[in-house]
Amino acid sequence: MIEVRLKPGKERSVLRRHPWIFSGAVKQPSELPANGETVRIADSQGNFLALGAWSGESSIALRVWTFDENESVDATFFRRKITAAFELRKRIFNGALPEACRLVYAESDGLPGVIADLYAGYAVVQLSTAGADRFRAEIADALSEFAPRGVYERSDVDGRTREGLPPVTGLLHGSEVPDKIDFTENGIRFQCDVRHGHKTGFYLDQRVNRAVVAAEMLSGAEVLNCFSYTGGFGLAALKGGTGSVVNVDSSENALAQARIHAELNGFSETQFQTVCADVFQYLRRCRDAARSFDAIVLDPPKFADTVAQREKAARGYKDLNLLALKLLRPGGKLFTFSCSGAMDDDLFAKVVASAALDAGADFRIVRKLAQGPDHAVSSAFPEGHYLKGIYGILAGRQTSRRA
Ligand code: SAH
Repeated sequence: MIEVRLKPGKERSVLRRHPWIFSGAVKQPSELPANGETVRIADSQGNFLALGAWSGESSIALRVWTFDENESVDATFFRRKITAAFELRKRIFNGALPEACRLVYAESDGLPGVIADLYAGYAVVQLSTAGADRFRAEIADALSEFAPRGVYERSDVDGRTREGLPPVTGLLHGSEVPDKIDFTENGIRFQCDVRHGHKTGFYLDQRVNRAVVAAEMLSGAEVLNCFSYTGGFGLAALKGGTGSVVNVDSSENALAQARIHAELNGFSETQFQTVCADVFQYLRRCRDAARSFDAIVLDPPKFADTVAQREKAARGYKDLNLLALKLLRPGGKLFTFSCSGAMDDDLFAKVVASAALDAGADFRIVRKLAQGPDHAVSSAFPEGHYLKGIYGILAGRQTSRRA
């Protein structure tokens, strides 16, 4: 096995069990490993630190598979890790997993580059790093135990380009995966388009937050669901007894699926409306027409990939939240999210506070929200926490602002 040594002092984060090593921390190896090859990672003196995958093209040169020198990275390793991920989910859900949930959450489950979601007996897997890509067969085999109906690969994520990998999609296990997999979430019927849907087909990270929205609805209320995708929050609101929901998204395909979901759950077109529009423009049109709502959900896509884009992203979030707070009726509820990893909890809270100030809103934070428990984050890898949310109430409007 090729040994890759770190520069002096650069072993500190590995000793804290952080799984990433950046290329700047690595001494040029005398023999260059192949992309994705498993290597022995050592400190500058040659002392063992970990076994990890070499990424020749990425700024993250090494990702740790194991800190145990006696382990080998092979089929047994992946079976053990994926079984452990399943056992953890059983603990999290006290035995019974939801029909659709995350089974493997990459670094947090000790498997950098590996994401696997379960949908009613099928697994949809994303391999985003050279190391994970090398062990496709072993990973698929291990997943098949927990996904008896089939394993489908959706490795068409942006991150693969940085790893020098082409997009890959297709069946890895089982005989066939249907175009749409039917499943229920919080008692609501959904379909997941594993081939064309976003991520692995559905935003499973919002499962608990959709239940929060359902629980917070009042009968007869009018809800605006911004960035609705296939209608998850809108259906949750209706299930929670709200009067009607306007779902806004720029993707007509997503909205077509949202309407199928409404029909599957017996909601009418009056209860569940869809609008294909840019949310920023739609909110401005509502403001100009003096429209108002009892509850608003803002679940935009990622605005910032890197810390460098953070400021621009913050402006986007502020604009959205400001507009939404202006459209809320007194006593109205706002559920606002950010899935940008580069925006931390504090910054997001500051952005919402500044939007409230400018909107003249007396905004009361009732509860902070986060990604669901099946997306549990390893304490050694805080980067795993990316989804932040705030549920708050517009307690009133300030008539004047103190100078
Ligand atoms: N809330 C959804 C997930 C939202 S994902 C759920 O619970 O399933 C973000 C969505 O925003 C995507 O469907 C994407 O099509 C849409 N989108 C991105 N930019 C947009 C814009 N400027 N205006 C409207 N929709 C947008």
